Amino acid sequence: MKVTELSREELLALESELQAKYDAYKAKGHKLDMSRGKPSSLQLDINNEMLAMPLDSYILENGLDVRNYGGVDGTVEMRRLFSELVDIPMAQIIVGGNSSLNMMYDMMMRLFMFGTLGHKPWKDAGKIKFLCPSPGYDRHFAITQAMGVEMITIPMTPTGPDMDMIEKLVAEDETIKGMWSIPLYSNPQGIIYSDETVRRLASMKTAAPDFRIFWDNAYGVHHLFSENSIPDILKLSAEAGNPDRVLYYFSTSKITLPGGGVAMMAGGEATIAEAKKHIGIQTIGPDKVNQIRHAKYFKNAEGIRVRMKALAEQMVPKYELVLNLLESELADTGLLTWTKPEGGYFITVDTLPGCAKATVALAKEAGVVLTGAGATYPYGIDPRDTNIRLAPSYPPIDELQAAMELFCLCVKLVGVRKLLEA
Ligand code: PMP
Repeated sequence: MKVTELSREELLALESELQAKYDAYKAKGHKLDMSRGKPSSLQLDINNEMLAMPLDSYILENGLDVRNYGGVDGTVEMRRLFSELVDIPMAQIIVGGNSSLNMMYDMMMRLFMFGTLGHKPWKDAGKIKFLCPSPGYDRHFAITQAMGVEMITIPMTPTGPDMDMIEKLVAEDETIKGMWSIPLYSNPQGIIYSDETVRRLASMKTAAPDFRIFWDNAYGVHHLFSENSIPDILKLSAEAGNPDRVLYYFSTSKITLPGGGVAMMAGGEATIAEAKKHIGIQTIGPDKVNQIRHAKYFKNAEGIRVRMKALAEQMVPKYELVLNLLESELADTGLLTWTKPEGGYFITVDTLPGCAKATVALAKEAGVVLTGAGATYPYGIDPRDTNIRLAPSYPPIDELQAAMELFCLCVKLVGVRKLLEA
């Protein structure tokens, strides 16, 4: 039923029907959470074997004792595992603690405090700006906002951020110092940057000589319905004469444990050498015990690929549930649009203009917590108020079903009210 084409009388009748359903749902006193992209307890439990595994030796192949200080850039064993998995030379990889976001924050702090490779520290560069492909990841935007960086929203397209707009802006404005990007299965839309997008990012002319791309490949191996890959941006940018443009991040947060995984960064050789010097002042070394636990448990990149298949087996039914419900409840209504992601952690939907905030608020009132509307845009402001990120991973499947049924109801109720206002 095309709700957007109903008469006023029909809309009023539908509104009271939906309101009755909503009231009945609310009376059940649900308490459901699909707000953040957290693994479910079942996904976490897969790691219990690794956590219980004895470490038969504490001595690394370079002679370092994992229980002691040292190894600022991580263990050789874990660097090799990441190198094989993400196809970046070991020499360009630093393995850190559990959080890649932490490594991004630290890098941003260093760029502000010290500058990089002889360029002026960003704190002394006056007002600086960052490009923020949106919808995007709220915690990226929180970092740039906390540091007083002006954020410029760049629209996303099916092949990645709007490259015409990016190329024009970075060529003209030297106060644009960098951009965020999630190139494979982007958070939240699941977009895969096209080969052309990656090539253009690697080779575009930038007015700022110290322009940096935070290349957050958080979902680089998180395939669900098909396996996809993106070109090697570190190699392409080096070939284009920009060897230090890209700051690459990855972690096992959503492979093993967000609270106890292992994170890495990679970059051009000069950038990595510089970062190691700074990190050597910050710490005497990361948690090598956890690194060696991961490296011994998985053995090689294939070990991680096998794990990703097991995780996908848990995720796919949840994605199908969400996508099937959206299809059966909302496909023909004209009230909601969405696309099916091939991997990652989220499904993104767009309501009628001006309806996202009200939909999330209505769901909350009936006990279903969703990611805040607006969170996917810089400053928390979605200019059209349409975008909502659905995170299906955390709730058990029966709770997900209940949460999604309410979500569909809220989309319809808010949509009908909006149409009645017109
Ligand atoms: N980047 C993106 C795009 C994410 O979605 C997340 C987790 N939600 C992170 C980084 C956080 O990564 P980590 O746990 O390694 O800090």
